[in-house]
Amino acid sequence: MSVLAKTKEVLAEAERLNPQLNNFLSIEHEASLEKAAYLDSVPAERPMHGRAIAVKDNICTRGMRTSCGSRILENYKAHYDATAVERLNAAGAIVIGKTNLDEFAMGSSNENSAFGTVKNPWDVTRVPGGSSGGSAVAVASGVVRAALGSETGGSVRQPASLCGVVGLKVTYGRISRYGLVAFASSLDSIGIFGGSANDAADVLTVIAGRDARDSTSADVAVPDYAATLENEIKGKRIGVPRALFGEGIEPDVRDAVEKSIDNFRSLGCEIVDVELPHAKYGIAVYYIIATAEASSNLARFDGVRYGFRAEDTHKLREMYFKTREEGFGEEVKRRIMLGTYVLSSGYYDAYYSKAQKVRALIKKDYVAAFEKCDAILTPTSPTVAFEIGERTSDPLAMYLSDIYTVSANLAGVPGISIPCGLSSEGLPIGTQLVGNFWSEAELLNFAHVYETAYPLNARPRIFAG
Ligand code: GLN
Repeated sequence: MSVLAKTKEVLAEAERLNPQLNNFLSIEHEASLEKAAYLDSVPAERPMHGRAIAVKDNICTRGMRTSCGSRILENYKAHYDATAVERLNAAGAIVIGKTNLDEFAMGSSNENSAFGTVKNPWDVTRVPGGSSGGSAVAVASGVVRAALGSETGGSVRQPASLCGVVGLKVTYGRISRYGLVAFASSLDSIGIFGGSANDAADVLTVIAGRDARDSTSADVAVPDYAATLENEIKGKRIGVPRALFGEGIEPDVRDAVEKSIDNFRSLGCEIVDVELPHAKYGIAVYYIIATAEASSNLARFDGVRYGFRAEDTHKLREMYFKTREEGFGEEVKRRIMLGTYVLSSGYYDAYYSKAQKVRALIKKDYVAAFEKCDAILTPTSPTVAFEIGERTSDPLAMYLSDIYTVSANLAGVPGISIPCGLSSEGLPIGTQLVGNFWSEAELLNFAHVYETAYPLNARPRIFAG
């Protein structure tokens, strides 16, 4: 089939399902068809030739809107591509649309988007997880095989888990952040959703690597991540931090994740006990560091430099205040206030500086644990997809969605969520492997071997085709 014919099909499915799922904020119909026709006119020699990709709407794309799910950037069009997008384009991929998200990637359910909640295709009364819910749904609903999201504290792995797809968070510095709108710069990374580990591996191979425009991108060699997917995992050691399997996990999640441990054992892995003694402080530390950095990063949205400006203002300060009052949603304001508070003189030492110290301990725990094992297994999320509206009035309950994911961001290590079963209500559950620095190839290898041996064998109710 020609790339053009295939792309027409993909666009038709994206447009047909979007009214039910609300996962795309824009679908790039014309530009995608133009690119497809061009690709049909050249030899098919590029690694992503004609493959459709969805991109989270906090990643800049030249000429397309990049709203960050916020009123304050509602009509913002970047005049450049993020490095990851530029590399995908150069590899022959087609960015078919931009996906919905929690405003500025702050959230775990997609309910914080200024443009409406994304629906979970397994059950449209449930959330898809967040903040990259739109990208997770683009893959889960079968419209695309791969999508870009972003991770600050779990925003790829958690929605991947709730939507039944593979979600990869990379080592800090593995993928350039150039063109990813900053939330918390020391935690942020671009992440990848795949219909399979192979889909994610293909994207990572193209987008990973040093970029002169992001000084935190690392100069570490980029392997062909698809080449090692079939490697033997027999004899690998999987560490299980039993102390983290305590209260708060739904019974179905516990059962499915326990089963995944048994399955890895059946695949020849050795299961060992490990400890992450400071992981229990992860959420507290994360919400201090992430909000502190966010309060600083979001200062640039002032009505002057980007996007929206409030009307009828006559003085400069009034213009700043009204623009930010009208442009930002509730959760973003909450975080800016929290972040400003923890950084304020008098509280800096008690909160921010203390959190940085505990962050170092969390990282040390991982370094020690990886002396004993090759990857650490936990649930990705303590629950399956919850009902829309169930947690919106309780931010603390919402923050606990990320209890298993934030530590990897704080430490800078990679992690992957792999679909491992369904709840009694037929909702997907993910098992998470966190690996040592630069172990993306190993994590994808584990995921590929696992999903080949134990495929989910189920599809969401809403599915393309
Ligand atoms: N859910 C977490 C938060 O609300 C993580 C977000 C993210 O990874 N972008 O901050």
